Amino acid sequence: MTYHRHSPLEALGAVTVPSSPPPLGVPQPPIWPGTTSPHGAFAYIRRSSSDGACGVSGYPCVHPGADLVGKGGTPVKAPEDGTIVRVASGTSPPFTGYGPWVVVLEGKSGWFHLLAHLDPAKAALASPGLPVRAGQVLGSTSSANHVHWEVRRAAVPPSGGSNKTNNIDPFAWLGRYGGRPGTGWMLVAAVAAVLLLARRG
Ligand SMILES: [Zn+2]
Repeated sequence: MTYHRHSPLEALGAVTVPSSPPPLGVPQPPIWPGTTSPHGAFAYIRRSSSDGACGVSGYPCVHPGADLVGKGGTPVKAPEDGTIVRVASGTSPPFTGYGPWVVVLEGKSGWFHLLAHLDPAKAALASPGLPVRAGQVLGSTSSANHVHWEVRRAAVPPSGGSNKTNNIDPFAWLGRYGGRPGTGWMLVAAVAAVLLLARRG
């Protein structure tokens, strides 16, 4: 099956992720806290078939998204508020190789989020036209044991384009629009320090 193209990553299935994500409505990685597999970073270059199936069945050698680990059955959540625009099996164009199940969300930031390798058994959670909040569960991981997350300018690259030109690093998107772990506390600490200095002055 197509989702076994990530077979070298299967060992990561043992990873269980903590379940304390940001609240609903706050931009976040689809699996909290967003642990990326060793070979699953954005633009990671695969040099051989033993390193993530580079060149096998047309699979791209430059990874166009981020692979966030979570053993099969881990909930996969909407990265931001938006609307579901596509769901697909991932076995035919334009989503060949993203199976077994794919969900595409148009976010209010103007970017599209592609969430792939999902379990089709949870397909009822997302359907085209459905409005969703950041943090809302849209599906779950399959036996691929991770979600492949892409952030795209267009839901599907325009003719002449490709994932290389259409996609950005999901974590760059998160840095621009989302709350990173700990930033809230850093803000509180900074305000407290300023108040303390003001009192001493
Ligand atoms: Zn991937």
